[in-house]
Amino acid sequence: MKKIPVGILGATGVVGQQYVTLLSNHPWFEVRFLAASASSAEKSYSEAVGDRWHSTLAIPEKIGAMRVRRLDEIEKAINECAFVFSSVNNETAKLFEERFAEHGLPVLSNASYHRASTDVPVLIPEVNPGHIDIISLQRKNRNWSKGFILAKPNCALQSYMIPLTPLHNRFGVKKLAITTLQAMSGAGYPGVPSMDIVDNVIPYIPDEEEKSEQESLKMWGHLTELGIASEKNIALSVHCNRVPVLDGHLACVSMELEQKPHPDEVIHLWQTFQGVAQELHLPSAPAQSIHYLFQKDRPQPRLDRLAGSGMSVTVGRLRPCSLFHYRFVALSHNTIRGAAGGMILNAELLFKMGYFA
Ligand code: NAP
Repeated sequence: MKKIPVGILGATGVVGQQYVTLLSNHPWFEVRFLAASASSAEKSYSEAVGDRWHSTLAIPEKIGAMRVRRLDEIEKAINECAFVFSSVNNETAKLFEERFAEHGLPVLSNASYHRASTDVPVLIPEVNPGHIDIISLQRKNRNWSKGFILAKPNCALQSYMIPLTPLHNRFGVKKLAITTLQAMSGAGYPGVPSMDIVDNVIPYIPDEEEKSEQESLKMWGHLTELGIASEKNIALSVHCNRVPVLDGHLACVSMELEQKPHPDEVIHLWQTFQGVAQELHLPSAPAQSIHYLFQKDRPQPRLDRLAGSGMSVTVGRLRPCSLFHYRFVALSHNTIRGAAGGMILNAELLFKMGYFA
């Protein structure tokens, strides 16, 4: 199969580097265009990243030698790519992502800027694949024929939305209280100063709690003629904390359901859950999206974040809750499942559905 040429906007950042690593041997996609800020432009990718390279794996040779472009070199991107992954910061997303889409290039965005728009899907294939259909309304609203914008949720959401979705589909989620313990790489590079985070927990991540609540309810919402209508019947409260962990966001979840299942049923649902990504055998789909761990002290970021090559969510400690029905702990890798890997999975699903033809 001839590979589909793709671009990465924000290729030099923490998430951009994860894209470079994950796409270097991808069976369907090939990186042909890299863009970043003016301070990286015109340099080779290796030179632009320099000592900011985050992975223990080396920079793939071919990509390391590619020239980094400015973000306004849109014509070049159009000539070279079928679509672009965007991992720029929010301010830059606001200035550039729509410009790429109006020029006919689909933009798969990691930034939060477009996530609240009712005609933009916020996608996890195992959670809300049907939301892709809103793209036709988006194109109509904005008079775009080929381009579109698709987002994925905040990096903490994959840890709890993936295990909660099969329970929501079967028993109905009614109330949720969630506390996240989020890794330092979630703040980009250089991120939180080491003097602030070592020997510490920071109980505040700007806008993160609001985004976590709104995006979860949007993802469980339904499509209308006017756009995606968020779910209104679930009470949800999220606390977000930054902790001194390199990679891996942990979520402690208390849940009340419309119907209370037996705990064995919950674990069975998790262990047997297969979403559209597994049914279609997408290349980045883990065999199991959810791994339930029976050890009392798991999941742990250092031990479990690379489950399913960083694409599976590990869940443990399902137990009764004195306020709600049950409590559990869930973990996902924030730069793989929560960012680049999750978006590559979205791209694979879109490709299968003919969106890059
Ligand atoms: P980052 O490490 O700060 O990287 C930002 C990228 O944007 C770099 O490539 C940077 O290029 C580029 N950039 C900055 N200003 C620019 C400008 N004016 N014009 C063009 N390019 C510019 O951030 P990150 O952690 O990778 O996050 C990227 C996006 O993904 C953010 O929107 C973030 O909220 C979201 N996200 C992050 C995570 C995570 O776990 N880190 C997870 C999910 C979503 P230079 O290197 O040239 O400055």
